[in-house]
Amino acid sequence: MDLNLSVEDLTLQKISREFARNEILPIAANRDIRSKPSEAYPWEILKKLDALGIRTLTVPKKFGGYGANHLQQAIVSEELAYGDLGVAVSLDQNFKFTQLICNETTEEQRDRFLDDFLTDPIALLAIAITEPQSGTDSFLLYEAPIAGPRMTAKEDGNDYVLNGTKHYISNGGLAKYYFIFARTDPSKPMSEGLTGFIVPKDTQGFSIGEAHSKLGRRLLQNGELVLSNCRVPKTNILGEWNKGLDIFRKMVSGALIPVMGPARLAYDLSKKILKESSIKDDQWAQMLLSEMYMLIEAGRTFLYSAAWHGGKESDESKRRLMSKVFASEAAIKVCRSAMEIWEHKGDLHFDNRPTPEKCWRDVLSYLHGFGTNQAVKLKCFPMISLDEEEHW
Ligand SMILES: Cc1cc2nc3c(=O)[nH]c(=O)nc-3n(C[C@H](O)[C@H](O)[C@H](O)COP(=O)(O)OP(=O)(O)OC[C@H]3O[C@@H](n4cnc5c(N)ncnc54)[C@H](O)[C@@H]3O)c2cc1C
Repeated sequence: MDLNLSVEDLTLQKISREFARNEILPIAANRDIRSKPSEAYPWEILKKLDALGIRTLTVPKKFGGYGANHLQQAIVSEELAYGDLGVAVSLDQNFKFTQLICNETTEEQRDRFLDDFLTDPIALLAIAITEPQSGTDSFLLYEAPIAGPRMTAKEDGNDYVLNGTKHYISNGGLAKYYFIFARTDPSKPMSEGLTGFIVPKDTQGFSIGEAHSKLGRRLLQNGELVLSNCRVPKTNILGEWNKGLDIFRKMVSGALIPVMGPARLAYDLSKKILKESSIKDDQWAQMLLSEMYMLIEAGRTFLYSAAWHGGKESDESKRRLMSKVFASEAAIKVCRSAMEIWEHKGDLHFDNRPTPEKCWRDVLSYLHGFGTNQAVKLKCFPMISLDEEEHW
């Protein structure tokens, strides 16, 4: 494994780092406290990121994108997340689901959707499986027909008619294209009866319900998708009919999360406080800061290692799954320690500036996003052989 960053990696890191500090961080705290989730997303930032080529970062070169690899994707996401995790995730959804619009589509679908995605400076992508009645059961893949999404897709002539509700969807209400998974055969388990559909936002029968008001990641809209007799042509099926689960698994199981961005910001904010106050001489504060550094370095290295192996090993490898759990829990701990340092100074208040408290609220979202940490650990257990030695 070679984690030395190339000149190209370092250039991408520098561009996204400067952008996050100069453009995202200064507006993030103010947007975070807006009461209406639908008014928090900074579209002007997205346009600027598009002009830098970041919105389409992972689109392969042959289709006109930058063609970033997994490690470059992880580096850029982390830097953007230093400015704001919600903004980073809105882009990160594009980085991940670009694979769907480029690689899982037919040439005819690419003609209809990819050109538009590439040229519209504010086009975002979203993936939707979670519903009010199904969450972890879609992730842990129970082989019973009752488990998983309830949304139905019934064949009618040249179309499928979709009915049901998805919720918690990242970029829900912001995205132009939605990859929605519905039951094409509810009598079968998900592995044999789930199909993915490409649903453009202006499709008749498709609407956005509630925009969830969340504790953290508030700049990103998470919304409810309501499909009511929503007619989607058969030509919008993603991949093979009834084989949607294979595609979905590839997308969500190898999550490379940008959670170390807010952790790094919380660490920097703590250093600032320590520099300005006498608590830097207290051993409790010194130990906390050392531990924060250790957790950031370990979490980041685990994520980068998973990214470096990306494409070389299965999307569902233990490394990729476990790096999500470790990094999110490390980031939460770092932000909590930063709050302890700030609290000591009586300066934890929620106001119009970057605070460890916002970092903490933001990173908490990764306890659930891309499978809850409990579910991910359960999913990893069968990958650990009790009989064989690990190939360290
Ligand atoms: C910020 C955020 C962004 C999200 N973005 C998206 C998105 O873009 N697209 C999308 O489709 N979904 C998205 N989700 C949904 C997310 O994937 C689900 O929240 C997650 O899979 C858990 O499902 P649930 O919320 O229904 O919880 P439940 O499945 O009801 O779980 C509740 C609790 O029970 C535990 N639990 C459940 N089953 C077991 C078990 N067998 N053993 C032990 N413990 C168990 C869970 O770990 C959890 O703690 C997002 C969620 C959040 C919070």
